[in-house]
Amino acid sequence: MTAESGLVVATYSRRMGLRLSDGKEVDARIKGKRLRPVCGDHVEAEPIRNETDWLITRIHGRSNELRRPNLRGKIEVLAANIDRLLVMAAGTPQPDWAIVDRYLCAAELISVAAAVVYNKSDLPADTSLDEVLADYDRIGYVTVRCSAKSGDNLELVSSLLSDGVSIIVGQSGVGKSSLINRLLGDQQQRTASISGKTGEGRHTTVNSALLQLPGGGAVIDSPGVRDYAPALQPEDVAAGFREIASAAQNCRFANCNHLREPGCAVKQAVDDDMISKRRYDSYRHLLALTRKLNAKRY
Ligand code: GDP
Ligand code: ZN
Repeated sequence: MTAESGLVVATYSRRMGLRLSDGKEVDARIKGKRLRPVCGDHVEAEPIRNETDWLITRIHGRSNELRRPNLRGKIEVLAANIDRLLVMAAGTPQPDWAIVDRYLCAAELISVAAAVVYNKSDLPADTSLDEVLADYDRIGYVTVRCSAKSGDNLELVSSLLSDGVSIIVGQSGVGKSSLINRLLGDQQQRTASISGKTGEGRHTTVNSALLQLPGGGAVIDSPGVRDYAPALQPEDVAAGFREIASAAQNCRFANCNHLREPGCAVKQAVDDDMISKRRYDSYRHLLALTRKLNAKRY
């Protein structure tokens, strides 16, 4: 039996959906207890004699991992080899831009491209929205306003996602599932039938799935991915705010935290309106939060 390479496209606790290099999708089990493949993983697998199942024997090196601490505080990998993170906000629930900044920070730290999508454009927006989105534009993030309900600007979202593997994150209720369903169109039925399939030994609930979009590209979706809270270290936070990291090169002290230090180029840039006050406040808030969480852990 010869090994083949495949892509993990669904996970059901210890079972996986695998897409082989010829495009065929098969069920797979995992060899041993130590291997923990996740959606987006490129793996090596071999057919099991007299069975339809395949066996995953090896996980190829990952370009990145989406991680979060689980309930026992252990780091859990949610997905691998992500090309893009779409952070979604909307008029309702009340947007919390600090949450958007936290996701953008996490994306920056694992070197994943990120974009900000404001959904529910069919509803009236807060007057501050233009300025908030303009700030993101200014520091190089793609921003889109769309409506999963009316269809407004969905071609733009679809083209944004049209290559590679993306994930969509954001507060609960902003419209992530609605957007994914709308983008999937007819294929929505297919995913529903995958999760409903009951075969011998097969878990009926999909933990996560890599969904191929009709307009190109794919989205990894799972409840855990949708509202994952990135685990950040205090010393990483400044690096995750790209405009702060860039201004920080001119701070007097190499270990400047950009809070009260003299000769801080970041605070100067905020005073000069080169860095948005809102993003700077977000940075300070996230730094304080990660310090507090870290202090608890030790
Ligand atoms: P999720 O928790 O982020 O996955 O959000 P859902 O997709 O479940 O959507 C939450 C609610 O917002 C549902 O009642 C949707 O019908 C509604 N919703 C989603 N997209 C839009 C939109 O573009 N416009 C409006 N008005 N409502 C939307
Ligand atoms: Zn500084």
